[in-house]
Amino acid sequence: MPLRVRPRERLLPQVLGPELIAPCGMNCGLCMAYVRDKTGCLGCRAGDEGKSRSCLACTIRNCKTLRWSESGFCVDCARFPCPRLKRLDVRYRTKYRMSMLENLQTIQATGIESFVASEQERWACPDCGGLQCVHVPACVYCGHVWP
Ligand SMILES: [Zn+2]
Repeated sequence: MPLRVRPRERLLPQVLGPELIAPCGMNCGLCMAYVRDKTGCLGCRAGDEGKSRSCLACTIRNCKTLRWSESGFCVDCARFPCPRLKRLDVRYRTKYRMSMLENLQTIQATGIESFVASEQERWACPDCGGLQCVHVPACVYCGHVWP
């Protein structure tokens, strides 16, 4: 199976940390923009460099209510889950193998450190141990295809 992403370097699940979890529940460490060698995006919570136009214009990232959230996550918001977060969640649940709402609920229930630890396990390739990209249906390092 041809790889659709050229990774910048071999990433291991240990690179995942709380700073890579976006306010919406997205794990930026699994994003194609983080994994590939071209852009150098360091996640939603980092600076603007390397970000796609869609991420720069993201209504969740730029949400004014979010600035008042104590945890820094949408789950604290009075309007949680708002329509735009629900739309994002549907897209990721149907096209990719993750759910923003589920991630946020886990963060709220177990804490960010525990969530990150479970993500490190969940997204390790069973064949080579590399960190998986959520946007690609196979391991970007060894080609292992997801069931
Ligand atoms: Zn692999």
